[in-house]
Amino acid sequence: MTAPGHARADSLARLRRDIVACGACRRLRRHCEAVAARGKPEFRGWTYWGRPVPGFGDPEAALLVVGLAPAAHGGNRTGRMFTGDGSAAWLVRAMYRAGFANQPTSERRDDGLRLLGAYMTAPVRCAPPGNKPTRAEFARCRPFLRREIALLPRVRVYLALGRVAFDVCRELLGARGADVRGLRFAHGAAYELGPAWPALIASYHPSRQNTNTGKLTEAMLDSVFATARRLVDRTHPGEDRPAAARRGTGVAVARVAAGLGGQAHA
Ligand code: SF4
Repeated sequence: MTAPGHARADSLARLRRDIVACGACRRLRRHCEAVAARGKPEFRGWTYWGRPVPGFGDPEAALLVVGLAPAAHGGNRTGRMFTGDGSAAWLVRAMYRAGFANQPTSERRDDGLRLLGAYMTAPVRCAPPGNKPTRAEFARCRPFLRREIALLPRVRVYLALGRVAFDVCRELLGARGADVRGLRFAHGAAYELGPAWPALIASYHPSRQNTNTGKLTEAMLDSVFATARRLVDRTHPGEDRPAAARRGTGVAVARVAAGLGGQAHA
């Protein structure tokens, strides 16, 4: 069993290996394995990943998208963050329209998706029962997120999906010395904390619960990513973006930005 501690000479590849091998939370590991063994009729024939899910994206990312945890039949099935479920479909469509992804779909690890100047992660790497990790599980997994953030030095914007992710981001920024007093979760709120710190944007999570009820619409999610785009472009003008998105057409072309290095993913 590998503990989620800090490794010497850290790298995203090492972090990924450590996450995938982690067995620190017995309850979550048992749950993920049970879901993987049981599967779901609509995914008959799939070999579920069933292990902790590492972050995914561009190592040169300026935008960090933070969710809650992999979904039982999404990331826990496919082995990639925000892949293979309804939340992923909404999220990646919006990211594509804002020029943060080379394609509008995220269905499996080998589907060709590349994030452009963006990285997706979560504070808990194992799908929790009822989407509710315990405080102890959050705490146990937190070192992985800290290491990931340290390995993504170009990140200038955090986009938190949901109140829990927002609280995690606020706490991480506060622990590093940012003044986070008065930061409150509200969909679309964007907080600029000064030149030394990433900005923090809040969004409703694109969960089925929110999208099916109309609490979150595609236009609302697009608006959040437009804010992210504006803040990213302020610090990294014109980088890592398909030409169509730079022109503001809202239609990203399937071009992989050159020279970004490999995508870090499962
Ligand atoms: S939630 Fe995090 S700390 Fe817990 S077992 Fe999964 S990877 Fe390890």
